[in-house]
Amino acid sequence: MAKIGINIATGSLQQAEMIVGIDLGTTNSLVAIIHPETKKPVALKEHGTSSLVPSIIHFDDYGNASVGEEAKQYLETEPQNTIFSAKRLMGKSYNDVKNNANFFTYKVIDDNTDSLVKVQVGNQFYSPIELSSFILKELKQRAEHILKTPVTKAVITVPAYFNDSQRQATRDAGKLAGLDVLRIVNEPTAASLAYGLGLEKDDERTIAVYDLGGGTFDVSILKITNGIFEVLSTNGDTYLGGDDFDRLIIQHWLQEKGLTEEELHKDKQLAQTLRLIAEEAKKHLSSNEVFEYTLTSLIPNSLHLTTNDLRLSITDFNALIAPLIDKTITSCADALKDAELTTADIDTIVMVGGSTRVPAVRNAVSAFFGKEVNDSVNPDEVVALGAAIQADVLAGNNKDFLLLDITPLSLGLETMGGLMDVLIPRNSKIPTKVGRQYTTYKDGQSGMRISVFQGERDLVKDNRRLAEFNLTGIPGMPAGLPKVEVNFLINADGILVVTAKELRSGVEQSIEVKPQYGLTDAEVEQMLLDSITHAKSDIQTRALVEARTEGEQILTVTEKFLTKNAQHISKDEMLATAQAMQALQLAVTMEDKNLIQTKTEELNEVTRPFAERAMDAAISGAMKGKNIME
Ligand code: AMP
Repeated sequence: MAKIGINIATGSLQQAEMIVGIDLGTTNSLVAIIHPETKKPVALKEHGTSSLVPSIIHFDDYGNASVGEEAKQYLETEPQNTIFSAKRLMGKSYNDVKNNANFFTYKVIDDNTDSLVKVQVGNQFYSPIELSSFILKELKQRAEHILKTPVTKAVITVPAYFNDSQRQATRDAGKLAGLDVLRIVNEPTAASLAYGLGLEKDDERTIAVYDLGGGTFDVSILKITNGIFEVLSTNGDTYLGGDDFDRLIIQHWLQEKGLTEEELHKDKQLAQTLRLIAEEAKKHLSSNEVFEYTLTSLIPNSLHLTTNDLRLSITDFNALIAPLIDKTITSCADALKDAELTTADIDTIVMVGGSTRVPAVRNAVSAFFGKEVNDSVNPDEVVALGAAIQADVLAGNNKDFLLLDITPLSLGLETMGGLMDVLIPRNSKIPTKVGRQYTTYKDGQSGMRISVFQGERDLVKDNRRLAEFNLTGIPGMPAGLPKVEVNFLINADGILVVTAKELRSGVEQSIEVKPQYGLTDAEVEQMLLDSITHAKSDIQTRALVEARTEGEQILTVTEKFLTKNAQHISKDEMLATAQAMQALQLAVTMEDKNLIQTKTEELNEVTRPFAERAMDAAISGAMKGKNIME
């Protein structure tokens, strides 16, 4: 996807980099782009290989990670070092997953049941965010290898039912992998986009997206109006998919021989081989009447299974999986009920996930909705292809689409030093909701001014003030302890509602703003042009303000720390600290960004040893948080 950009340092035109679409799946993941010549979405693959990368990570004895097909080989032989389905753990606490603890063959830590889960491999602990970032890093590297260009920007898809913390976790995983995640998109929305749905201006329709993958099933009912995708309802079963079909086939074969699953699992090698053959049988039956395993002879095994035993007709297969298909149809009915619709209201059905290749699945869905289903796009790739289309829209290549329902200018609020902190970037499609947490700057600060601005400049004084209000009544706490969550919500009518809530006390305040009010197209254009002309000086100013704010904060914190913890600090340390503080104070006064940064670092170096000895939670909080003006 070639995009023309403006080099903000020189003002010259430059070729900007690719924005890729990523489907980060439970079983498989992949990357897609809009082909620069055909302008059609394509999934990236190296010559002669599949576009799908198994979402599996293997750690060797030294903690080195491998991802994809290579890692998959270790599933049976090194289950404790081979992580699959990390997506199921995203944004979850142990309490959330304990009912399915048996599903995970690796160690999911259960000591602190309410905090986010960690996975233990050897003596290392990994968060699901880190695990997902390994997969994303692999996808990024692959894409860079194939495209021969750096890839740093991406759109990543998530299930429609993902909550805020799961979405944020996905975003963080992207960041950790070195990706700027421009947008998190719902998988059913991406799949619809891949079928071209919603890309026409006056396209209005209701869509059912049926997604049956390897391990999960979900159905979403979407309504598209004027390019806005609204999720009316979702339903499904996060532990139902094509892998269950494979399991039923194996059970069927064992039953025919009077064998049990326990007996099979004593022979790990055979269990793995049978699983692969069962999957092959299932896939074969998607376009044939009978499966007969004749290719090679079956390895010698204690169960005396022979190739003759591994036969399956389509009739038997359909009978085996009928109860599972029925379950998915019940979910479809429930999703419709929740959306207060009937099958007659559904205009289009979109099929997603490798398991929708099973004819009995397609027929059942089609029969339930009384309509043909859309299955012409590869169901394994359809979500990534749609993500690539969304990425293209964000890159500004799809102008018609951009005209619709987007925020013409960025929306954000004022943070310390008069900086603009953007919550909703310009060109965001609406409706949209973004939340971010802030904290206080001073001890005992009881109020916080929330000033909402619109524009592209780094300093709020150069942007347009839309609204302002005070969040009052924050109970007295040390600086950095209050957690103030500010939410920006733009509804389909373009009304911005800003809410601020102190999470510890529950104090809350909100305001309604019409963001475009009073701005003509020409004014919007002028504001954009200004932001380009002043970009260089803006960046410099922002860097200075940030360095200064950080420097000042560290001075305050250190001073407070010294008075409180004098008994932990030696005379020499006290002296060295006083000197370092003086040097930093001077740098701040001189407004020299580089000097401030160096002196901040030096002060940190000096205080680190005793700070570590006596650090208390309140102070660590104050050093981390972001601050809004009082
Ligand atoms: P996904 O999670 O969307 O990548 O889907 C993977 C699932 O689709 C696995 O259970 C595969 O066995 C299944 N699958 C892939 N191709 C076929 C096919 N031709 N027929 C039936 N199932 C398939």
